[in-house]
Amino acid sequence: MSFAGGAAMAQSTIPPRDRLRGIERRPPFSDADKYVQQLVDEKANSVTLGAMLGNGQVFFPTDDAPPHARMTPDYLPTVLSKLNARDISPLCWVVFNIQDVRRSVDQFELSKKYPQWKMKFLTDLSGSGREAVGMCVVSSPYIQQHAKLLKQVAQFDLDGLFFDGFYFNGLPNRQQVGCVCDDCRKAFKQDTGLDLPTKVDWTDMTFKRWVRWRNQRLLKTARYFQKEIHSVNPKISCTFNYNIWPFARKGWETAIPMWRIDDFGVSQHGYTGRFSEKWMMLGFKCRIGRDINPMQTDLWRTGQMSAACGNVKDFDWYRLETLTHILAGLSFGITSWHSDLAGPAEFTAEIHEQVAKRERYFSRKHLADVAVLCSQNTHDFAGYAPDSPMPGGDYRDGLIGTWMALDAEHVPFEFVFDNQLDAKSLSAYRTLILPGTAALSAKSIGMIKGWVKQGGELITTGPTGVMDEWGRMLDTPSLQSEFGIDVSKPASVDVGQGKVTHCPADPGMIYAREHDATAAKSLSKLIPASSRTLSVEAPPSVSAHVFENPNDASQRWVQLLNVSHMAPGGDGGFRGVDRPSVEVRPMVADEEDGKQRRACGAPLVPAKNLVIRLRDGKVKAAHLGVSGQKLTVDADGAVHVPTLDLHEVVVIDLK
Ligand SMILES: [Zn+2]
Repeated sequence: MSFAGGAAMAQSTIPPRDRLRGIERRPPFSDADKYVQQLVDEKANSVTLGAMLGNGQVFFPTDDAPPHARMTPDYLPTVLSKLNARDISPLCWVVFNIQDVRRSVDQFELSKKYPQWKMKFLTDLSGSGREAVGMCVVSSPYIQQHAKLLKQVAQFDLDGLFFDGFYFNGLPNRQQVGCVCDDCRKAFKQDTGLDLPTKVDWTDMTFKRWVRWRNQRLLKTARYFQKEIHSVNPKISCTFNYNIWPFARKGWETAIPMWRIDDFGVSQHGYTGRFSEKWMMLGFKCRIGRDINPMQTDLWRTGQMSAACGNVKDFDWYRLETLTHILAGLSFGITSWHSDLAGPAEFTAEIHEQVAKRERYFSRKHLADVAVLCSQNTHDFAGYAPDSPMPGGDYRDGLIGTWMALDAEHVPFEFVFDNQLDAKSLSAYRTLILPGTAALSAKSIGMIKGWVKQGGELITTGPTGVMDEWGRMLDTPSLQSEFGIDVSKPASVDVGQGKVTHCPADPGMIYAREHDATAAKSLSKLIPASSRTLSVEAPPSVSAHVFENPNDASQRWVQLLNVSHMAPGGDGGFRGVDRPSVEVRPMVADEEDGKQRRACGAPLVPAKNLVIRLRDGKVKAAHLGVSGQKLTVDADGAVHVPTLDLHEVVVIDLK
């Protein structure tokens, strides 16, 4: 088998879940031949079409929801058979709760049809008094009613369903938080023995129990929908729009928990119009999305040119940003898709051709021995608590900054979540970082201690372990009681065969807010070489990830993504969420009027003379997967990459 050259893998060999050339296009009706031909012309291999709108109007005949004005009974079966004949994997957009109701509650058809099962809101966090509507998708009989509708969609010849509107707040005012309807009152009582809270109060245990209960019930409904859909069509994969902060600054109101999920797909949005956040939003969302579900995560972006370029028509930047989005998915081991791009089909096809040259290197077998805890308990119960030692904004910037620092230092790592603090999950890692993890349960810290005794390297920062899992201050902080560490002082303690190192400040948060390279290096230095599956000598704007070839355990793929155009010198100007950013883009002369304007982005600067080392295995040979270029390998196994443009895959054969 030759790895040289750039011939695209035959489409039919790529499972639907692994396809990277996905387009979202969901008209209520279309000429089926034209619809399919356009996707062929765009070199797409997956499409998300629609069965309904976010307001509940459906594109097929049923008594269970109102039809769209252009609903045509034959449309979906016809277009699906043509898509399947051309091996374009069809996925279908459906609504979970409510979506795209942006103007008025009167736009939402489902609440008009089923008014008895509307959400009742606890509070309007915005204080604006603006209206909102949504369905009680966690307790009311609407769950069964909606499953009935979804099962009708599942009868079509589809590969998957994409659930949008996956949250438990209302629209158009998404700060209206539910639900405290009669069905929720009964269900909450049954599940917890408690009466519903009457207001937002982060010091009240009943309210906090309700916050967690919403998370659990939201997931329960997702699993129920999936089970019902599989009873009709077991091949359909179900993905839920699990889009979390920093996108749209979403918070607890969505009820989407940052927990590891293994039994349904999750999706993230990974784009922003703010230049300073472009790489942060893309890379961080790839990382956290992939780690929420390593086997089924995807990344969406809008195709709207304005999201890439503002009000400038810069097709070069637009092409580069869109391609970077898709290749970031590949680089992190997740799939990516986008809505309609501006320009002719050839414009989209050019981008997809670049992807097709690389997609054979798609792997989910990420090799990392470093874990970073992302704690929903800390995010919520420390983050929103009054007088907290770890306010939510600090915690978010700490997590983002930890990712930024480790990415800039090329340290392979994965996020783990509160529901993975058990012996089996921890045993997959050699180093665990707890960045400012204020809220930890006694059980979790006990599990972590057991793992350290077995040889784990624990790194803690900031006020880690000063609260219990509900955000209540402990009389004796858990690092003190378990390891004799005072969180206000630096410490390094041997425990059994392992070690605990504590930094009173959080280098991640400092790196996010001050972009101080010494903070990134200080964190990196704490991570022993034995925990690094990969070492890379490259500028900080190169994002590197190492995977095992899923079909050949003796081959490694090192994905190299150069984001110097989004983060020149490793810095896009981001200085913390909702904090003033720094402008790093150059001024350029506008092509049309010659006037000086801010460039859409920075120039893509090739990275030179990269050196790559794997921790495990002896290197036999290495080459670049896309260009086919053979690479020099030193006697000690160091692989030399002379130059990197936007993206390459270093293919390493082991002895
Ligand atoms: Zn309810």
